[in-house]
Amino acid sequence: MNTYKLLTPGPLTTTAAVKKEMLEDRCTWDDDYKNVTQTIRKQLVYLAQADESDYTAVLMQGSGSFVVEAVLTTAIAENDKVLILTNGAYGERIAEMAQTLQLQHVVYSVPYNEQPSHVEVRALLQNDSAITHVAIVHCETTTGMLNPIAEIAKVVKEFDKTYIVDAMSSFGGVPMDVPNLQIDYLISSANKCIQGVPGFGFVIAKIGALEKCKGQAKSVALDLHSQWEVMKVDGKWRFTSPTHVVAAFAKALEGLIEEGGIRTRYSRYAKNNAIVRSRLAAVGFDAYISEAQQSPIITTFLFPHDGFSFEHFYNEMKNGGFVIYPGKLTDFDTFRIGNIGDVYEEDMNSLCEIIENYMAVNTK
Ligand SMILES: *Cc1c(COP(=O)(O)O)cnc(C)c1O
Repeated sequence: MNTYKLLTPGPLTTTAAVKKEMLEDRCTWDDDYKNVTQTIRKQLVYLAQADESDYTAVLMQGSGSFVVEAVLTTAIAENDKVLILTNGAYGERIAEMAQTLQLQHVVYSVPYNEQPSHVEVRALLQNDSAITHVAIVHCETTTGMLNPIAEIAKVVKEFDKTYIVDAMSSFGGVPMDVPNLQIDYLISSANKCIQGVPGFGFVIAKIGALEKCKGQAKSVALDLHSQWEVMKVDGKWRFTSPTHVVAAFAKALEGLIEEGGIRTRYSRYAKNNAIVRSRLAAVGFDAYISEAQQSPIITTFLFPHDGFSFEHFYNEMKNGGFVIYPGKLTDFDTFRIGNIGDVYEEDMNSLCEIIENYMAVNTK
């Protein structure tokens, strides 16, 4: 058995109940299993605060990036053009996909410690009427930045564009009224804030938008429209589905509801995050972004002094029972601490104690 908890933004620490659900083998074409899929789809639409007459949930095999690519290739036709907002590695990955898929696209990128501005988005849309879609990352997991998706939604919809939001690391942990945010495609995956295990991702899509995408995908396996056409009938996946992962996810959704829903989970995550941010600041760890921009998901910390050894620090944390995350910035030496998953205030406090003791001994 693991002797440590994962403080990483997915895969993350899951409950015993979620893990136990995977001990059973399930048949992909049996009604019991297909009903599990249908229940998951219903619950996802409900969690998005949406109505099934307006939105649908489509599950797709693979990690989160597979599903981002599925949305891009399915939703963006040859004559369409997507505006991609980036302030971190995940936004840049969307741009890389657009490039590889040979989609018409334009990138609006801001530094990693800044948020994209709705004023700039408005100017871009005004000056380029060829743009049909806008794509943004909600929680940029690279830094922990929470991007202003509501403000930007207003501009996107004023210009009547299709809105794609990578809410991979925030959906389920941050309340989101998807219809009100006017999101056409929201993308997330099993192993983030819903607290399942890795193996598939999902899209909460506006039916009116998805309906128009038949035959557009330049991929068979990643064709989200085809996946939806098959899945919506009775919950059958087109190709082999990750049965154990799907069962575990259904259990994780039950856990989310038992906990009190997204709002309660959000409060737990926010408290976890506040503990880590404040106690680490007190022993010399500056967060890379300001508190106002900080998501309740993951925090990026700068190395406290020259000669700080992340490897040594990491191993000491691991010995203490917690696995943390390396940084992903090119210009600064950083590491990250995730606070999502089946982890609580007491876990954060024990981690902080270990870090405080570490800093008392390992001064510069
Ligand atoms: C986790 C994550 C993804 C997907 O990453 P995978 O490794 O493919 O699961 C995409 N975007 C964001 C913002 C993420 O946090």
